[in-house]
Amino acid sequence: MKGFLIFIIAFFSATNPPPATLEDINAHLALANQDLRLATVGYRLQAANAPFCKVKSPNFGWVLHDIRQYGNRTAAKAAFGFEYPVQILGVVPGGPASERGLQSGDAILRISSGPNNVDFSKQPLPDEQKTFGRLAVLIGALEALASQNSQPILIRYERNGLEKEATVQPALTCPGQFQIDARASGLDAGANDIMVSITPAMMDYMPTDDELSVVVAHELSHVLLDHKHREEMAPKQLRTKDVESEADRLSVWLVANAGYDPQAAIRFWTRFGKQHGLGIFSDSSHYRWKRRVKMIEEEIQKMKFTPRLNGLMPPPLLQTIP
Ligand SMILES: [Zn+2]
Repeated sequence: MKGFLIFIIAFFSATNPPPATLEDINAHLALANQDLRLATVGYRLQAANAPFCKVKSPNFGWVLHDIRQYGNRTAAKAAFGFEYPVQILGVVPGGPASERGLQSGDAILRISSGPNNVDFSKQPLPDEQKTFGRLAVLIGALEALASQNSQPILIRYERNGLEKEATVQPALTCPGQFQIDARASGLDAGANDIMVSITPAMMDYMPTDDELSVVVAHELSHVLLDHKHREEMAPKQLRTKDVESEADRLSVWLVANAGYDPQAAIRFWTRFGKQHGLGIFSDSSHYRWKRRVKMIEEEIQKMKFTPRLNGLMPPPLLQTIP
């Protein structure tokens, strides 16, 4: 009897999802705004510093999202439409997708280059796939397609019920992806071998994109310097201070090349250090913020004596990567 009751409840919750409240819809829209803000700052850092990244990846300058990544799909549909499973959440101003007229809300149907194509409208994956599984598969296939061909990519998309096409040449930028970690609370940021994650509270903590660029560049530095892999290889006691000071040192060069204000690094770390003591990001391995600020000041000094290369400053730490 008990089992039967549970079945009934499960059946009803699957067929009758709760209606979306205005609050839910607004929360989804706010998250999308943070996503695009992060992607825009990230793209600028990746694109400006591309000449100094030995490994480059094709970058469309857009954020895609999948209905499946949302826990509350009714609210996601109400906020974004989702007539098709995958659509553009936003395009980075000045990026390749934006330059070719693609917009937030465009549903991606199919992407092709020569005889090869990726069909976004029929990408059946079993339900047990992780919420981001399908999008990760599609983005992987898209990157492979763009890497194999130097030709532009033909994008078939749908807007307001009409099918359209655009030809986009992705930019070759420094590698790395960006996401708002909506499940995490508190002021936090982190990176693995490819993904930079920032919490919604941390996004709100940064009043300007100059300050945001400092945190994004710090995390992106972990990706570009292959820190995850290097930490796994190094003896434990030598690990974290080393990679943290490298990420701090590299970050201000990335920030300056992207046209953000490197002094924002001093402002941000001083403010954050005074309010939160042991500095980013509640990890005891992060050393004292005063030392950190001093080191960043030294890097900014070094920049003054660095010869420009096409208007950019080669970051010393990226020159040493084999
Ligand atoms: Zn770090």
